[in-house]
Amino acid sequence: MSMDKKVGVYICTDCGIGKALDIEKLQKTADGYNPSVCKSSTFLCGQEGVQSIKDDIRNEGINTIVVAACSMRVNGDLFDFDPLKYVTERVNLREHVVWTQPSNDENTQLMAEDYLRMGIVRAQKSNPPKPKTADLEKSILVVGGGIAGITAALETVKTGCKAVLVEKAQQLGGRVRKMHRIFPSEPPYTDLQMPDIEEKIRAVQSNPDIKVYTNSTIISIEGEPGMFDVLICSNDNIIKPSDKEKDETEKSKTSEQAAEVPQAGHVRYNSPECSSPEKFRVGAIVFTIGWKPYDAAKLADEYNYGKFRNVITNLELEDMAKNGLIKRPSDGKKVRNALFIQCAGQRDKSHLPYCSSVCCMASLKQAKYIREANPDAGAYIIYQHMRTLGLYEKFYESMQDDEGVFLLKGDIISMAEDSDGSIRIKINNRLLGNEMIIMADLVVLATGMVTNMVPEGSEPNDLTPEFIGNIIKRKTQDGVSEELVPVPIALNLKYRQGPELPHLRYGFPDSHFICFPYETRRTGIYAAGAVKNPMNAAEAATDATGAVLKAIQCIELTSQGKTVHPRVGDLTVPEFRLETCTQCRRCTVECPFGVLDEEPNGTPKEHPGRCRSCGTCMGACPQRIISFSDYSVDMVSSMFKEIQVPDDEEFPIIVGLICENDAYPAFDMAGINRMQLPPNFRLIRVRCLGSVNLVWITDALSKGIDGILLLGCKYGDDYQCHFIKGSQLANERIGKVQETLDRLMLEAERVDQIQLAINEYDKLPMILNKFVEKIKQIGPNPFKGF
Ligand code: SF4
Ligand code: SF4
Repeated sequence: MSMDKKVGVYICTDCGIGKALDIEKLQKTADGYNPSVCKSSTFLCGQEGVQSIKDDIRNEGINTIVVAACSMRVNGDLFDFDPLKYVTERVNLREHVVWTQPSNDENTQLMAEDYLRMGIVRAQKSNPPKPKTADLEKSILVVGGGIAGITAALETVKTGCKAVLVEKAQQLGGRVRKMHRIFPSEPPYTDLQMPDIEEKIRAVQSNPDIKVYTNSTIISIEGEPGMFDVLICSNDNIIKPSDKEKDETEKSKTSEQAAEVPQAGHVRYNSPECSSPEKFRVGAIVFTIGWKPYDAAKLADEYNYGKFRNVITNLELEDMAKNGLIKRPSDGKKVRNALFIQCAGQRDKSHLPYCSSVCCMASLKQAKYIREANPDAGAYIIYQHMRTLGLYEKFYESMQDDEGVFLLKGDIISMAEDSDGSIRIKINNRLLGNEMIIMADLVVLATGMVTNMVPEGSEPNDLTPEFIGNIIKRKTQDGVSEELVPVPIALNLKYRQGPELPHLRYGFPDSHFICFPYETRRTGIYAAGAVKNPMNAAEAATDATGAVLKAIQCIELTSQGKTVHPRVGDLTVPEFRLETCTQCRRCTVECPFGVLDEEPNGTPKEHPGRCRSCGTCMGACPQRIISFSDYSVDMVSSMFKEIQVPDDEEFPIIVGLICENDAYPAFDMAGINRMQLPPNFRLIRVRCLGSVNLVWITDALSKGIDGILLLGCKYGDDYQCHFIKGSQLANERIGKVQETLDRLMLEAERVDQIQLAINEYDKLPMILNKFVEKIKQIGPNPFKGF
């Protein structure tokens, strides 16, 4: 139910606003909406200005506050009236009007008046949210018992929460347990250290607040932050599929089937079955399933792994060192000359295209093993670029000072094996510009790290998009359709969108690689360690600590009815008027965070704790039945109606739908830098371009608006959209608006989308002027004046 509105409009005249605009005219504009209070103030963000608003709230019963002043991105702490009681709307007269337009100009005044009208209507159509608060489960499930998982469990209990650690292997410790030494982590950063993993394992096992399940598999996870229900099973109790079922699975992978077609986008998968599962509830999940080495067998052609007896990988050398004897596999003799090949199968499009970040340090460390085992031995490291970040540079320098270590920037030209197993390596020495031959009795390949999200047998370079799985072809009435059946890996989420975390390139789970480390695309599940991106043991431990803090923050915010990143603290969630839902499933498919399951009849079933309030579902819904208390399809359509479209055919009016995450601040930056922007635009901030409903385009154009420009984040592989693919979805949707515009006899070119990063604000004058020119060439909207 909406509240009885008592609107107060407060116009600031400071920061150049009063000098550039006719404030009396602005007040008259506001008066047209019969506000209870309409005031101007010379210094609204000052103590007196803010106090006068508070006084009106108390004395006049103002509950809807329109602050016409600076950007909503500044002074949020001052214009901070209780959001559960009051609606506050910020009209940006400073950055978006007077700092980008000429002063005392008719068009500048018209722009300011439009913004004020739109802001008042937005405020009138908004209501305080009614968040659901609850006392939620605060324990944390840690998936994976390597260094990241062990650290996550220990850090969890330090905060007073309990942890449950599930590890599929028999023992905790992961790969670090197999390490002979780890990188230096204390001054002078030149000495290798003993791993302290055994001590940490004992600390985990003896802590009464950490429950450990080794040799165990997660059978299923249902629910949402604060109430994830987890089923686990001892690996000994997993029911293996019968041979018959196996046969069928294999057949279905390879052949076309005449089976019933599953619902559009609906994923199917089989989770493991258990004869004796255990069930418990946790509040959040830290996902640390680690990494595996790139399969060196694939390096047989380039580096003769598996062909030459004394070519091994860096992990194999680590095993030898751990077991106390570094020797040649061919004859067990001591190693006198070891040659390390860096980037073996890495930064290479036909293997791993990325850098694993740890291998340069790993080879330097292992060169030290060689030198310590035999002071007369030599170690050659052939590298492309030596990457030893931060204080690891000190260790690199110490190894440069070792006369038995030879560091060569170069390429391997050829390798040949002598009868005694030694290897003759021809190298292009890029520093000296000549070719040279080195005889080595051991060659060590610095192979890279592959996230354990990639199942055995799959290529990180060749994964199915978004979800790792198998493409199955099915015969349908219309021909053959392809369906992705995701492969369960470790979480077995009972989510409509699939059992595991969606991935970016090469299998790494992520939701925003620039701004939000730890976040995955499943709210309440935080990834840490080398499952997320290549990193060393110390980095994985630090990463796990960060992920635990995010997990605890998530539980706390959810229990207060607030969303997590990037709209941290938002109290709104979508409301669905399901009476008119047509079960089209667009919202369930397009929600980037897997919030919406489905009822048996296909209507969306919400899990509000998973929601991040992006509005993508609102943009997707053709029935327009999804809205928020302060953001709705009707609200934005009503704002268009407040734009006064002049009859002047030479002056096009263009609506800019701008994403509040990057495009809005880019406009602020343009203002701060006093860039002059064309006077034709009326900007409306949207939560994400994914929330743009196509009806807005037709509403705006049928109102006589001449053009619409969507400005949002970059998409594709290096996307920056805070809601994963909102700008991409918007682009796909406006591709479909053509048909509607044809019906209205309007040119599709009137609508366009620009990808804009926050630091590209300096491009705004060019982008906007170009669009104005294009609209002028198309000519005025024929609906103008109707
Ligand atoms: S608002 Fe965003 S996160 Fe929430 S249900 Fe809709 S699409 Fe999903
Ligand atoms: S998009 Fe709208 S109509 Fe379609 S399933 Fe969702 S709520 Fe129902």
